[in-house]
Amino acid sequence: MKYSFVSHLYCPKCGKNYDTEDQNQLCKCGSPLLVAYYMEELKKVLRPEHLNERRPDLWRYHELLPVKREENVVSLGEGMSPIIKMDVVGKDMNIPNLYMKDEGLVPTGSFKARGAAVGVSKAKEVGVTELAMPTNGNAGAAWSLYCARAGISSTIVMPVDAPEVTKKECLAAGANLFLVDGLIGDAGKIVANAVKEYGMFDASTLKEPYRIEGKKTMGLEIAEQFHWEVPDVILYPTGGGVGLIGIYKALRELQELGWIDEMKMPRLVAVQSEGCAPIVKAWEEGQSYAEPWQDASTIAFGINVAKALGDFLILDAIRQTEGCAISVSEDSIMSELRTVSSFEGAFVCPEGAAAFAAARALREQNWIKENEKVVILNTGAGIKYPNTIQGDSNVLHPEEALVMDKDVSR
Ligand SMILES: [Zn+2]
Repeated sequence: MKYSFVSHLYCPKCGKNYDTEDQNQLCKCGSPLLVAYYMEELKKVLRPEHLNERRPDLWRYHELLPVKREENVVSLGEGMSPIIKMDVVGKDMNIPNLYMKDEGLVPTGSFKARGAAVGVSKAKEVGVTELAMPTNGNAGAAWSLYCARAGISSTIVMPVDAPEVTKKECLAAGANLFLVDGLIGDAGKIVANAVKEYGMFDASTLKEPYRIEGKKTMGLEIAEQFHWEVPDVILYPTGGGVGLIGIYKALRELQELGWIDEMKMPRLVAVQSEGCAPIVKAWEEGQSYAEPWQDASTIAFGINVAKALGDFLILDAIRQTEGCAISVSEDSIMSELRTVSSFEGAFVCPEGAAAFAAARALREQNWIKENEKVVILNTGAGIKYPNTIQGDSNVLHPEEALVMDKDVSR
């Protein structure tokens, strides 16, 4: 049987098709391209039980991924992250069926490894030797490491304020790292000029069509981990929004295969910070596109994206699933991070904490009903953001006894 059932690339705006053997970027009309598969053919030969014997990584879905020849797969074991029941926080929020899918456990400590694994593998397959990308940190870290494994040279441009650990990862991987005294949009402009100047492949979010296919596997996994009965609500911290677009695409494809109920879609929720909420504003105003957000700033650095190229796809996915977009305050992100970490022992990233804060708010508004099954994507490990936790610890002399303040409960 074929390793991949990929058919072609298509433009969701103008409908033009492209060949997956070529090095593709955006459509001529400026829209991102999406990947199509031979679904009818695949439906006849693949069943969910075929997956049971496969390795627990995202390549278990290789028929629904764009890499045609298995020898081109560049993998560090990414995918099949755990889904964890959050009983204590769930009780606190009055959402008894609250789950977290923990992407902090994939290689490089963030969900960006999924997009990097599939994007870099496909880049290798179509003969890319040098690529460049702007990033808020984690994607650059993941792509530079996967590029190192693939023997592809990488040039990464990120804001000078990006998390320190992600810069070190790029340097460890041997990437050409540049910092810009600005936002990811500024990094994007620098990359756009550099790829023209030096003939590099542009791996910017959605300017290459395959990262989304990697992110899509989060949706495939959620469906499989819930035994092909999808949850009611999925909350996703949204910057570029590729994960949300990908999860939506995954669920549609599973419906086409007949593996999940055609009538039931989880309501998809795009979560942003009040410091950068272009998608929420567009959603509330009923727009199809988002205006660039002015003076974007948030502690949840990964979702500090003033203008997402795939904004219309994010807004469409929310509408089609009867979901919503919601912004949360910076204070609520920090307090939720502490709550989840201390109640559940899960040191989530600020972006994940934002999604928890959104779940709490949506339950209070009764948008989430009490007995609904709710999944929160924690997109990365808290240890990648050591500066989010402040606090003084007492330093003792070796001979000194520690004194506990017994009046302070946990
Ligand atoms: Zn087009």
